[in-house]
Amino acid sequence: MRTRIIAGNWKMYKTVEEAKSFAEEVKGKVSTSSKVEAVICPPAPYLSTLVQITEGSALNIGAQTMHYENEGAFTGEVSPSMLQSIGVGYVILGHSERRQYFNETDETVNRKVHAAFTANLTPIVCVGESLEERESNSTVEKVAHQVKEAFKAVDSNQAEKSVIAYEPIWAIGTGKTATAEDANEVCGAIRSTIGELYGQEVADKVRIQYGGSVSPANIVELLSMEHIDGALVGGASLQPESFVKLIEAGANA
Ligand code: PGA
Repeated sequence: MRTRIIAGNWKMYKTVEEAKSFAEEVKGKVSTSSKVEAVICPPAPYLSTLVQITEGSALNIGAQTMHYENEGAFTGEVSPSMLQSIGVGYVILGHSERRQYFNETDETVNRKVHAAFTANLTPIVCVGESLEERESNSTVEKVAHQVKEAFKAVDSNQAEKSVIAYEPIWAIGTGKTATAEDANEVCGAIRSTIGELYGQEVADKVRIQYGGSVSPANIVELLSMEHIDGALVGGASLQPESFVKLIEAGANA
């Protein structure tokens, strides 16, 4: 049985005071469970503080992006080893907003997946199709391609520890969710792609999240699907009460 993973992607929201009070409030409300792993991905300036606040609790901290080099003349960037040194355990890679606005490519995502494993970070690799691609029936082709590129030369021991987030671009922040059946179908296709690359055993271990307007109202149905092992959540992860409901759904579904 795969442990579910619910991750909150805060994007560029919250003051430091809001971030701290969220972590203080939520850390006591998520219990260590073999059924669900809870992760919050705050803006970079708050990572260290939130790692300290949540130490020893079941609330884990992840970054929203990183560079692939450990150091260098890359103004403004944060490196894998820096994240590791402050106790961050996860990193979102290839989010569609990074691909769309910050020049993230399949190639940089692949370099970052390698760098994440070197720094002992669990990568949450995002893939997903645009509305145009969905309407032209090229969804599966698109996500399979993104998965193959992201995992180039990644070995199977690493691949099985990865998390993949299927996020249809048209469903992010729009209130439009893919139906649970559609999401499951694409998550199943992602699992088959991992199977083609690494074999069935690895495919059975990889955790696949759905993301795109997930909320306490729709998460139970999404998690009831065979290939959906969790969620990557933006808007509905910002309020403690709503985030706790998502984690509870993960523990109980
Ligand atoms: P949303 O964002 O839940 O607000 O749609 C999801 C994401 O971008 O990861």
